[in-house]
Amino acid sequence: MTPTLNRTLIALTLVALAAPVTANEREDEDGRHAAPPSADQAAPRPEDPDGPPAATDAPDDDTTEQAAPGDTGADPAAGEATGDTATEVPATPDPVAPLELLGKTVPVGTFDTLYWTPDQSFRSIATPVPVLVAHGTRPGPHLCLTAAVHGDELNGIEMVRRLMYELEPDELAGTVVGVPIVNLDGFRNGSRYLSDRRDLNRYFPGRKNGSAASRVAYSLFENIVRHCDYLVDLHTGSQKRVNQPQLRADLENPQVVAFAKHFGGMTVLHSPSSSGMLRAAAVDEGIVAVTMEAGGPNRLEDDAVDYGVQALETLLENLDMRKASRFWGAPQPVFYESEWIRAGQGGILLSEVELNEQVKKGQILGTVTDPISNTGSAIIAPYDGRVLGMAVNQVVHAGFAAYRIGEEKSAEEVEAKAEQAQEQNDSQSGGNQDEPTPAGEPDRPDGDTE
Ligand SMILES: [Zn+2]
Repeated sequence: MTPTLNRTLIALTLVALAAPVTANEREDEDGRHAAPPSADQAAPRPEDPDGPPAATDAPDDDTTEQAAPGDTGADPAAGEATGDTATEVPATPDPVAPLELLGKTVPVGTFDTLYWTPDQSFRSIATPVPVLVAHGTRPGPHLCLTAAVHGDELNGIEMVRRLMYELEPDELAGTVVGVPIVNLDGFRNGSRYLSDRRDLNRYFPGRKNGSAASRVAYSLFENIVRHCDYLVDLHTGSQKRVNQPQLRADLENPQVVAFAKHFGGMTVLHSPSSSGMLRAAAVDEGIVAVTMEAGGPNRLEDDAVDYGVQALETLLENLDMRKASRFWGAPQPVFYESEWIRAGQGGILLSEVELNEQVKKGQILGTVTDPISNTGSAIIAPYDGRVLGMAVNQVVHAGFAAYRIGEEKSAEEVEAKAEQAQEQNDSQSGGNQDEPTPAGEPDRPDGDTE
């Protein structure tokens, strides 16, 4: 940096004798600067999760020295705190660099379709996965949206399409990267899984030389996810279950809590992420991530899609990336702790409640009846709460997770708990990270996980 600066100063001094500084002068500098291109440098975000935001480094050798560090306010962790420092140097003219992603350069203020090829297949038949990019003209965070990590979860695909095509890059601060169909094989087959029957969302961040699924995960993570400051992974319920639109977030992480509050009134469910899930791997790398769940698999639900898009629009507004066309001003998210209520016996499940219904302790949620012996039993709500997810009517076995009942928590309660967990983590850091599983099994039915 310093030699460049010196060179610039010398050049400026010399030129100043004869003529005003021209744009060419700077372009020459920049051009030489850019000659050994480093992807990191060109990308306006920190490649190194521990490093400072790199957004301002690359393009603006011509700005004054003091302006360089951190003048974008694009610190992913800062959330709503950005923009409050009125004494900052006024925004520099155009500190945004073209975006280097997936081997292509996306100019500032443009929209582009890139292609990601998870190269676990052989090259001649591999099908590149389209990646939509809106690269804004003003500095801001990199927000990534991934959908159909499970190939049969369609609502998220439509959400990404609607949101991406309403973005206007010249009005945008920061960058939005949308991968509408991560698992293209599964999508083609109407299947949740990869072609080797593995669940991709158990393999993140993946390994370069791992199993097929692990390689796909690795490729997505390295080529796309690592370039994000924020990630929203879009899912639906699975295996004949439907979910009230909701965010799943690790509410023991204060950054994630702050991020989850940006989605307007969308319900937020505390869900400690398990190993291998995309959002868990992202958070581990300092990328603030949540999962959005809306509706069920193998169908397109307009209401769920619309709700999700509205929440994402609100997110963009709250991240100061763009003025929203509609904005949930007032509603605050409602936080929940939740538990799955399971069938005590096998048989035919018929529900007596609806999704999103408020239920009372002792209320019958549904009945399970053995169709041969005609013996049945009721599934009872063990506490007051709201039905955030439920199975559709079907044949079930004993132990089948039928109703996800959420218990409301105040935002203050959630934040206090997150801080506490953070402090605990900090004091334990360096210790054994493989904590024993808490008493009881993880509250997660087969196939319901994100
Ligand atoms: Zn899913």
